[in-house]
Amino acid sequence: MSVADPVTRREFAEIYVENGWKVFVLSPSKVPVANCEECAQPGYHDTVEEKEACTCLTCHALYAATDDLDSIDAMLERHPEGLLAIRTGAVSNLVVIDVDPPEGLDTLQRMKAHGVIRETAAQRTGSGGWHLFYQHPGGKVLSGAGKAGPKVDVKSDGGYVVAAPSTHPRTGQPYRWLWDFPTAPRDHLHPRLRAHIQPPERPRQTIVPRAFDHVSHTRLRGLVETVLNSQQGGRNDALHWAACKAGEMVAAGEIPEALAYDALAAAAEHIGLRASEYGTSPHHGTIGSGLRKGARA
Ligand SMILES: [Zn+2]
Ligand SMILES: [Zn+2]
Repeated sequence: MSVADPVTRREFAEIYVENGWKVFVLSPSKVPVANCEECAQPGYHDTVEEKEACTCLTCHALYAATDDLDSIDAMLERHPEGLLAIRTGAVSNLVVIDVDPPEGLDTLQRMKAHGVIRETAAQRTGSGGWHLFYQHPGGKVLSGAGKAGPKVDVKSDGGYVVAAPSTHPRTGQPYRWLWDFPTAPRDHLHPRLRAHIQPPERPRQTIVPRAFDHVSHTRLRGLVETVLNSQQGGRNDALHWAACKAGEMVAAGEIPEALAYDALAAAAEHIGLRASEYGTSPHHGTIGSGLRKGARA
């Protein structure tokens, strides 16, 4: 352990990184630091992938979180009053149960009485609540307010928590680690609590009627499936997308054009599109336009 008795933001950050956690900086008022002018434009770095790939030091709040100490030093230097925060979720192997006082403390008592709270690494928050740290169970555990009970939030994928040595902007009280030292949790959530906050994913239902049994090419079959399972309002778009992909396969010599057209036309017919829309031949309508576009790609 490089820091035995952490005091400064830098010293805490170093331990957080050693624990395998990703760290970033919030403004002193606990809200995220503002994006730079470019990243603040609507539609710019919109998706999670784009935000994570953004190379700006502090743009996009939790997506700027890092375990690179040089970057963290630069963040701390740029925001001398900024609060230290930890990005939760799979990226940091963390699920945090966030207990907000006063109501959340009652909920926590009830949860303890039901035996679903395992003792674990914990932080007393600046508002008098608790952050209980557990290992991430894998899969997706989405963050959500009140997800574990009244005023007990889950901070996991897509979330973050403020961390020591930050002080709460409203109360002026510091965040403090139980036993004064931030250790990575060794335990997972109690299985019953986990089942409550991570309901089993419902398998996506894909229905491919018997009439499509002859489409044996795996990728083409996948495209047919996409069309068959497309939703009202997005059917023509799904068909066009599938036709583009099929056009690429035709151009690469993977499948004959006639097979691609027949399979997609049958799928389009099946979901109720009219031949005048989807195209009466490989050169007409939505399918024709998609095949041509894919062939050019
Ligand atoms: Zn930026
Ligand atoms: Zn950006």
